[in-house]
Amino acid sequence: MQALRLFLPNLPSIPNLGQGSSIGVSRPGKDLSTGLAENDQGDAVNALSGERILIAWERGLSMPEPWRPLALLELAMPETDIATLASMPLAERNAKLLELRSISFGRAIEAFATCPLCDAPLEFVLNADDLRRNVCTAAEETWIESKTEMHMRVANSNDLAAVVDSASEDDACAMLLARTMGIENTDVDFKAHSDWLTRFEHLNAVAETVCALTCEACAERSEIDFDIAGFLWREVGAAARRLLSEIHRLASAYGWSEREIAAMNPARRNAYLEMLNS
Ligand SMILES: [Zn+2]
Repeated sequence: MQALRLFLPNLPSIPNLGQGSSIGVSRPGKDLSTGLAENDQGDAVNALSGERILIAWERGLSMPEPWRPLALLELAMPETDIATLASMPLAERNAKLLELRSISFGRAIEAFATCPLCDAPLEFVLNADDLRRNVCTAAEETWIESKTEMHMRVANSNDLAAVVDSASEDDACAMLLARTMGIENTDVDFKAHSDWLTRFEHLNAVAETVCALTCEACAERSEIDFDIAGFLWREVGAAARRLLSEIHRLASAYGWSEREIAAMNPARRNAYLEMLNS
């Protein structure tokens, strides 16, 4: 069931380090940069900065959790509608989120988790561009079973949203399999078809980033799923709150408008903040 951890964000019985509180942004964040990148499909991806950070955060807050990463992408990729983003394979969605992260906050992802054995902090650094290059997508799998041709496609954000309120892990797994295989939930029999889950995990493994970490305090080795969607959402939230705090201070001191301060080059904004601190 290891691979399913990523796909069940709200089921408390399933460890989910990527979306929980035990993995987080290790620093309050760096200055926002502006940028524009062309991805492999030629779609322009706009960096999140200034006013766009605030809009992305507000849009995401108004949506259920599985949709929040898409709120970020929708703003960064205005030529791609939300329905297209929602049906995008998770590995492809993650690649776009990594690209967005790289051009918005830099390619170095400094994160931390806590040791499952002794609670010591585990810090690690990932390269968003390297992770993105490692992503390759397989769209579907076909096989013959009792003379019947079976299909399974990769999971997408629509599937995640559909299983969020499942009563149990088994229910969620059954629904994921049914949705991705185009069959009824009642036709999913884990005992008769134990290979279906294995096929699902194998097909969707590219959507996962597993980090092997060793605790310096107790030498415990552990693996965590690095979830770029949850990570970037928390990072955008932190950046938005920091920007609002800066706007509050500068507006109070100088009387400038929110829009003027949000549009200001971060270096200039920091210079004014330093003057207020001196
Ligand atoms: Zn430890």
